[in-house]
Amino acid sequence: MSSATLVDAPPDEAGLLPILMAPDPVLKARARTVRDSDAATVRKLLPRLYATMYAAPGIGLAAPQVGVGLRVAVVDVQPDGKRAPMTLINPEVIGASAELATREEGCLSLPGQFGDVTRPAQVRVRYTDETGAERTLEAEGLLAACVQHEIDHLDGVLFVDHLSPLKRNMILRRLAKERRQKAR
Ligand SMILES: [Zn+2]
Repeated sequence: MSSATLVDAPPDEAGLLPILMAPDPVLKARARTVRDSDAATVRKLLPRLYATMYAAPGIGLAAPQVGVGLRVAVVDVQPDGKRAPMTLINPEVIGASAELATREEGCLSLPGQFGDVTRPAQVRVRYTDETGAERTLEAEGLLAACVQHEIDHLDGVLFVDHLSPLKRNMILRRLAKERRQKAR
């Protein structure tokens, strides 16, 4: 389905977009680079992405998670409990520390599932913000993990793909079972 079709689809009453759940194949696809001609689509998408992330609640949401195959993600790790929204358009990791950090990650596309993921502790990310300005972010701690997790989504990678096949399958089976039980 084209991204334009989905963005134009009516959101629910609160303006929220449905979040795709693993193992939806859309989550495994690589999103494409945002071009100037996507400006209107992105402008329409961003407020809904933020609303959907905050309502979930989550600290990051990537466009593919709502069925839009564009390299766009929103992040807000709310340092000090205050909102600090960050729009990442065409984000790219341009530097990573040799030092690694392991933290427990979850994902709105795998609700209720968690796993320990090891990633570079610090990253430098180049991205375009919502005004079209090119920016560079130096991130560490939770923000570094969150930004890497969201960029992974743009490449069709989920946090469970960083785990051993055994752990990944355990989580995916548990998610499927919980969803079946909820559907009853
Ligand atoms: Zn996620």
